[in-house]
Amino acid sequence: MVKTLTYLFAIFLLFGCKNEEKRSSKEPISSENSKNTAENFGIVIHGGAGTILKKNMSDSLEDAYKAKLKEAISVGHEILKNGGSSLEAVTNTINVMEDSPLFNAGKGAVFTHDGSNELDASIMDGATLNAGAVAGVKHVKNPIDLARDVMQKSEHVMLYGSGAEEFAQTLGYKMMDTSYFYTQNRYESLQRVLEKETALQYVRRDGHSGTLAKSEINDFEDPYIKNSKFGTVGCAALDKHGNLAAGTSTGGMTNKRWNRIGDAPIIGAGTYANNATCAVSSTGWGEFFIRSVVAYDISALMEYKGMSLQEAAREVIQKKVPALGGDGGIVAIDKDGNVAMEFNTAGMYRATMNSDGELVIGIYKENE
Ligand code: ASP
Repeated sequence: MVKTLTYLFAIFLLFGCKNEEKRSSKEPISSENSKNTAENFGIVIHGGAGTILKKNMSDSLEDAYKAKLKEAISVGHEILKNGGSSLEAVTNTINVMEDSPLFNAGKGAVFTHDGSNELDASIMDGATLNAGAVAGVKHVKNPIDLARDVMQKSEHVMLYGSGAEEFAQTLGYKMMDTSYFYTQNRYESLQRVLEKETALQYVRRDGHSGTLAKSEINDFEDPYIKNSKFGTVGCAALDKHGNLAAGTSTGGMTNKRWNRIGDAPIIGAGTYANNATCAVSSTGWGEFFIRSVVAYDISALMEYKGMSLQEAAREVIQKKVPALGGDGGIVAIDKDGNVAMEFNTAGMYRATMNSDGELVIGIYKENE
């Protein structure tokens, strides 16, 4: 009996120790990467991706872009530094770019085929997975604000067109005259694309008429046409409370028609944020970003495949999107403050700033 008891006691001790071992290997990690509270925060922005080549850029224009990127990111950084929310930082940072004629969002929005401006935007809160979006608004100065109000002050996620503007008016938004969105550069871009389009119309000898297919004319090598596709703005941020948020705002693509809506207002394609993984804002050829569900795919690769943010971003932007024939890029920040600025175009206006206030600004692919 005593023997049996001693034996049982020995077994109990053995298993007890094993469990202890298991527990100690599961202890919370105190590595740098887990410091996502108190002092760890960060922000990253983009101002569009495309055929942005140094040889086509004047020094003064380059300086103007860099200055505006710095101004925008500093606004968000200050909010985060003072303990403000990532949503607040994303909205206010995007506002600076929406108010600048340099970017294809708000004031600098590109023109539709009919010579008007239709704006899209979306925002997502990684803490609650709540989201808001607007599409095709024509009189709202800062569509990202309206997207945020859709998220916080309506029971919906996405509103479009005149209905979205009616909602804005119930909240006291001032409706802008459409002339506010007129910029000479963007208007000229539309004219160039329209001219090119006319040149592509053909009438065969047999009387058949039509438009040359893109594959037949290689028009996407034309920098004017290619550039006219991009210029969206976006922001992703991590605040001191460990909350992630992302937002995107755009005028869409030059010469768009039939109320075309791109990826920017589509949650999961243009914007996604989840405190468990990352916050992402996209820019690029929207149709391909919708089909690739870019922003969510990056988050999902992290969540389900255990990839790092950088690995996931590279997989989607360098492999999945180009495999379908699309191009563009993303900016993203993960729950630990790691940042990705991945693009497969010649350039992407971008900037990031960490909790130490270190600022990185980039435009072209290689080291500038
Ligand atoms: N993604 C935007 C759209 O397709 C365009 C852009 O990013 O510049 O509407």
